[in-house]
Formats: sequence, C-alpha cells, structure tokens
Amino acid sequence: MLEAFFTPRSVAVIGASREQGKVGHDVLRNLIQYGFKGRIYPVNPKATEVLGLPCYPSVEAVPGEVDLAIIVVPAAATLTVMEECARKKVAAAIIITAGFRETGREGAERERRLVEIARRAGMRVVGPNCLGIINTHADLNASFAAGMPAKGEIAFFSQSGAFGTAILDWAIGAGIGFSKFISVGNKADVDETTLLQAIGTDAESEVILGYIESVERGGEFMRVAREVSKRKPIVLFKSGGTAAGARAASSHTGALAGSDRAYSAAFKQSGILRAHQVMDLFDWGMAFAFQGRIGGPRVALVTNAGGPGIIATDAIEESSLEMATFTKETIESLRTRLPPTANLYNPIDVIGDAKADRYEAAIRAALADPGVDGLIVILTPQTSTECVPTAEVIAREAARTDKPVLACFMGGPRTDPGARLLMERRVPVYDFPERAVAAMDAMYRQHLWMTSPAGRAERFELDAGAIRAAFASAREAGRLELGEQEARAVIEACGIRLPRTILATDADSAVRAAREIGYPVVMKIASPDILHKSDVGGVKVGVASDDEVVRTFRYIRARVAEAQPRATIRGVLVQEMITGGKEVIIGMMRDPQFGPMLMFGLGGIYVEVLKDVSFRIAPVTRADAEQMIDEIRSIALLRGARGEPPSDIAGVTDALLRLSQLVTDFPEIVEMDVNPLKVFPKGEGVVALDARLTLADV
Ligand code: ADP
Ligand code: MG
Repeated sequence: MLEAFFTPRSVAVIGASREQGKVGHDVLRNLIQYGFKGRIYPVNPKATEVLGLPCYPSVEAVPGEVDLAIIVVPAAATLTVMEECARKKVAAAIIITAGFRETGREGAERERRLVEIARRAGMRVVGPNCLGIINTHADLNASFAAGMPAKGEIAFFSQSGAFGTAILDWAIGAGIGFSKFISVGNKADVDETTLLQAIGTDAESEVILGYIESVERGGEFMRVAREVSKRKPIVLFKSGGTAAGARAASSHTGALAGSDRAYSAAFKQSGILRAHQVMDLFDWGMAFAFQGRIGGPRVALVTNAGGPGIIATDAIEESSLEMATFTKETIESLRTRLPPTANLYNPIDVIGDAKADRYEAAIRAALADPGVDGLIVILTPQTSTECVPTAEVIAREAARTDKPVLACFMGGPRTDPGARLLMERRVPVYDFPERAVAAMDAMYRQHLWMTSPAGRAERFELDAGAIRAAFASAREAGRLELGEQEARAVIEACGIRLPRTILATDADSAVRAAREIGYPVVMKIASPDILHKSDVGGVKVGVASDDEVVRTFRYIRARVAEAQPRATIRGVLVQEMITGGKEVIIGMMRDPQFGPMLMFGLGGIYVEVLKDVSFRIAPVTRADAEQMIDEIRSIALLRGARGEPPSDIAGVTDALLRLSQLVTDFPEIVEMDVNPLKVFPKGEGVVALDARLTLADV
C-alpha cells in the first residue's frame, strides 16, 4: 500500500543542495551513502551536478519515472513543486520542509492545499515537517538522520522527528536493528493508522513501535490496530496528557474521564501495549523481536544474588506473570549440580561465587521443566563471576529452546562485554530486574490478546420509541439535561430495573403512594431543573409512616423553594426504598477522538474522591465489560470481602452492555451517569436508583 515510499525504483530529491550541512544535501548523501540501488535524481535549477549525480531543473525534466519525491524546498515553494510532482505522476512524496500547520493559520492553509493536490493526483504524502523515512531492507535512507540503523525486524514510527533521531542514534549504539523508520511529522496524509495497516502486512516487520502525541481517526485506528495486533505486537508511547474537550462536565463520568483515559481504554481494546515510559518501547520491542512467543505466565528466575532475585519476584507478583513451581525432577537435578547452600526453588540462587558452569546447570534444569514458560537470568558482577562465559552459556541455551529467555546484567564496565555479547546473539538484556520482568509481562499480555476470542458486541432489545419520546419531550421544553424523572424512562427502556416510583403532587397523594409501595419509602423532589437533588435538601430516605410522609413532603417543598425558588416543581417522587447491596456507578462521556467512553466504578457520593473507576470505548464486548469491572482497585468488595456474599457482577456486566448499546445507538447522548446502581448479591441483579443524562445541542 505504501510501496512507493518503502521500495521505490526511483527517487527524486527536490531541493538537492551542494552545500554540506543543508538538509537538501544530507538527504541526497544518505540515499547515496547507504547504498540505495534504484535511480536517484537530484533536482535543483541552480546546479548541473550534485554529489556526482546529474541534476535536473525540475522534477518534470527528469527523463524516467519518479516513484518517490523527497521535497526539501522552502515552504513557499512546496505547492508549486507538488503541482509539478502531480503532473509527473509521482506516486509518493515525503515533505521534509517545515512551516505548515505547526506555524499557524497561513501554514495550515498551505497544508490543506497540499493535501488537496495530493488527493487529486492520487499521490500519498508523508509529512510535512518530518525527518523522512528509512527502509533498511531496501537500503533506503530517505531522511536527514545522522546514520543508518542495522537491518532488523522492528518498525518504528515517531510523531516527533527529534525523538526519532535520538532513538535511531541510540539504537545504532545498542545494536538494535530496524526494518522501517518513519517520521510522520504533521500527518497531513499518512498517519498512524495508515502505517499500522501497511506495517501490519509487511513481512520484514515483526514488531511495531511508535511514539505518538495524538491519534487522528480514533474509530478507524482502533479497528485497524485490533486486527493488526492479533498478528504482531504493537507498542505505543503516547505523550501529552492535555485535557481535550475542555467543556465543563456535568456528570461524574465527565469529571473523571479525560483524554488520557480514553487513550488507555482504546489501546487496551485494540490490543495495543501501552508503554508507560519511553524505555518500555525498546525494552519490550527487543523482547518481541529477539525471542519467540511465551506460551503461559510461569516464569523461572536464575540469579547469583538474593536481592535482585527478590526484586524480580516482587515485580512478577505485581504483573500478570507468575512464579513457576518446579517439578520434583527439576529440584533433584538442581540438588545434584548446585552447592548445598544454593536455593533450589524459584528463584534458583546459584550463589555469589557461581561461574558459568553453575549457571548452565540451573538454566538447563529450569528450561527443561514443563511448568516453566519463560526464563529470566540475573547476573551481578562478583569477584569470581564470569560475565562473558556466562553470557555465552545463556545465549547458547536460549538458542536451544522455544521458551523466551531474557537476561538482566546488573552493573557497568564489568558486565558490559557480556551484555554486548547477549545482544549480538539476540538475547535481550536489561540492567535492572524490573525491566526484564516488564518485558516478559508484555510478551505474556500479547499472548493473552492473541489467543483471546475476537468477541462481538451483543445486541439487546431496547425500546427505541420510548427513548426517542423522552428526548423529544425534553428538547421541546428547551432542556438538554435530563434529571432522574426523565432519565428513568430511558433506563427502563434499556431493560435495567428501577425502584417502583409514584409521582405525588400533594401530601395526601404522597401518603396513598407510600401505602401502595409499602413502608419505608424514599421521597425525592421531582423537578426538571434540579439535577443534584440532595444538594438542595430534595432527598429523604427511610420515610416510615403516613405522618412522616406528610411532614417530609412539606419539608422537601420548603427546602427546595428556598434553595431554588425559580425551579419548576412537578411534585415529589415517592419511591420504593432499596436496602442492602452495594452502590456502583456506570456512565458515559464522549471523547473527541474515540467517541463514547463508558465508565464503571464504586459509586455513591465518594466516587470523585476515590477515583476508583475504569473506562472502555463503546461498543464493548462482554469480555471488555468484565475486564472493566475487574480492573477497579476495590473489586474485592464486590467479590465478597470479610464474609459478605459476592455481588452480582454478571448483573453489572449486563447493565454495562445495555448502556454501551444505548450510547452507541443514540449518539445524541453526550454524557450520562447512572449513580448509584445498586448491586445485590449474586443472582439478585441490579437496580438503578438515580440517573441523569445530557443531550447534544443539535
Ligand atoms: P441526587 O440527585 O442527590 O444524586 P439520588 O437519587 O442519587 O439523588 O439520591 C441520593 C442518595 O440516596 C443515593 O445516592 C442513594 O444512596 C440514596 N437513595 C436514592 N434512592 C434510593 C432508594 N430508592 N432506595 C434507597 N436509597 C436510595
Ligand atoms: Mg445520585
């Protein structure tokens, strides 16, 4: 799809310069120096020859076809050059020149016109304002980066050119190879989604790493990533947690959501591994590139020092991995080969004076154990430690097994030669145990993703007519915010249970309602203008007698009249009092990039204090909803802590799925809270005690 960028037969450098140090010079030099085999055409009206190649006054003057144009002319000249490329039927252009959207209005307009020219001509564009691209497997360095990485299986794209150059230079030093490097710049045409799709089918790329600051087409991005990540790992680092959609939120969900939450949710649902530190990108990337897949969570550790073994064990406990338990045979085999002071159980401690032979015995025994899925070998430099021979042993044993082997060489000058040998032999090596564990954890999470069934959003019977009617009547009254009374109709139409409720317009009818429902009852102000009823003294729970109903009716009316004299009052809701169960919240807000984002959390009045919530982009699958519930810190409370019965988590899942369908089917809902949703013990379902929602202003 992007062949013209990655395997062009001919490349024109428009703006090729004779002057060393100029970008137009360096790009051409990189093309020549790193051995590009296709034809190279420098274009510059003021020169006849650049770097030994004949130079052309314009791209149209080039005798043969041009697959790829690299444009390095000043910003003001780019549109003319693009027109020429269009006439020349150039297939792809990399626009290195800056001075577009990133500089303001005029630049943005220039960028818009540039895209227009490209679209009309069917030309694809990388950039503008970028560093260029590299395809090591085609010996193509179409960039002004200083240097060329080795051939490898890691594809890396970056929204920051400077970050890209730093990484390239670092990778060259660390001995990490790349398949492709793409600096996407302003992403006027080719963006992260285009790249995921292209690299997804690229035989030379086994892992996709990316540094992004934003995602352009949220829905399409998720769709493509979900498909590609089933075949190869995608690890992304996303920077810039600036709050998008600065609109003041009227719901708890709106207040707790945010663009970073949306990215996290979208990544999880698309099988993208999110790097939390820049370091993670390559820590994980090389594990994927150098080692095979891990088939399960059980990790064995071999170490010559107690402390680092404990650090690694702790990190494993906190990850999705587990410490492997060895078979009797493994332990016996270790007993005969290791000194009596050695620890034979996981972590295997070969003791500080271990030489390479002891590591070899321990590694072989661990890898032979059927209860071990992966191995991490830790080495610290003691006086008798043989760093290089031990590295040799690790590399040899790693090459003989299908199980992934990662190494952690802690130290500096003494361990470096061993670490270098490991990297050359494709055993990822880390300087701290947590980093090795995090890399193996990423491998295991990728395995889980690849083996999990795809899952589709389920469909429920929603009463669409009732929902539309509720929205229409609110809009007719000029309101976009629906309080409990109106939102109840929507919740009911979704098939989520509600407490029995009767609207009373005077004290006598309130008493009749209470008797009909049965004592005790809850009484709540019924006003379309009041969304936070408790705040104005509009809620009373546990009303237990006729007398109390009469008093409460008057009390609520008086309190509300005082707090909000102008509110339209329809009466007082007399409601079935729901006892027992736990309060959770489910809600939704719309993210500008990814659309409807669902929230789940422990509810009630402390939700914004505890912030114990989780998010997913709707529509969600049952598995998504289950994971979402599982993800909150206080999940133990719902599972049944301290002798309490477990809560009806299946009931919450069902409610979340229904809400997911509601907000997907009705894009006009911009924000919504069901809080609290009461969850009863397992098998007894859920009840929505309160709800509110906001409609789009269309
Ligand atoms: P607000 O508009 O102030 O959020 P709610 O309807 O949520 O009003 O009521 C406030 C609190 O009262 C709820 O969080 C819940 O704890 C309790 N409550 C509300 N309705 C009921 C009910 N039917 N049964 C039991 N408790 C209720
Ligand atoms: Mg409430």
